Amino acid sequence: MAVVKRIVLIGPPGCGKGTQAKRIEDATGMIQLSTGDMLRKAVADASPVGLKVKAVMEAGQLVSDEIIIEMVTDRIKAPDCAKGFILDGFPRSIPQAEALGSMLSENGQPLNGAIEIRVPDEFIVERITGRFTCAKCGAGYHEKFQKPVKEGVCDKCGATDFSHRKDDNEETVRTRLSAYHDVTQPIVGFYEKAGLLKVVDGTQNIDQVAASIMKVLETL
Ligand code: ADP
Ligand code: ADP
Ligand code: ZN
Repeated sequence: MAVVKRIVLIGPPGCGKGTQAKRIEDATGMIQLSTGDMLRKAVADASPVGLKVKAVMEAGQLVSDEIIIEMVTDRIKAPDCAKGFILDGFPRSIPQAEALGSMLSENGQPLNGAIEIRVPDEFIVERITGRFTCAKCGAGYHEKFQKPVKEGVCDKCGATDFSHRKDDNEETVRTRLSAYHDVTQPIVGFYEKAGLLKVVDGTQNIDQVAASIMKVLETL
């Protein structure tokens, strides 16, 4: 089912944004735009942006709006964005949400909706500390909630190397959660006022959350 829409996923670290963005991508052909992935690539490549953001990310703090807005402004101009997109991890502040609004109105392609994946804080440490990904294809897993079918082997590509994010530790999670509540959560009200907000219960299992999101997507 090809769907061409432009949506934002909002929610705390570990709520399932990346997991669900990939599901939507597979189901609809819309593309996932993850600012976390873009930044991790910049760090791995040791690009000028990567060198600037490395320490901030490892500490669990937010990268400056200026850097992020410039990065997304460039990315969103690429031709593949015409397929529609799922923004995963952006915007994460009111200035970012405002900047996104201007970028999209300049193209005459406004946002169709913002979906909040609501998960209370007490779920988050377990979600984050159990997270790992395939080192080859990036498929996401969880030690308890989403194990590979065959232990130690990636379901998607058969690779046997996995990696844990450096910032996925209990101490950093606390910093990331307070950044979420202080700086990011206000965008929920911002999108509610704009009539764009939909809320999904992110404490359901992965398939149930995916089904709830697909249902919401049809209404946007
Ligand atoms: P985010 O991109 O919001 O940080 P992820 O999609 O990476 O979150 O999910 C964080 C971890 O929690 C991953 O290990 C993922 O497999 C797992 N996960 C995602 N959604 C759920 C869910 N609904 N129930 C249980 N575990 C989940
Ligand atoms: P999570 O999966 O835990 O939600 P992400 O992969 O989206 O985390 O982001 C990882 C880190 O990258 C964040 O903790 C932050 O340092 C930085 N980052 C990603 N997106 C943004 C953004 N839109 N604004 C500021 N910092 C960002
Ligand atoms: Zn893999």
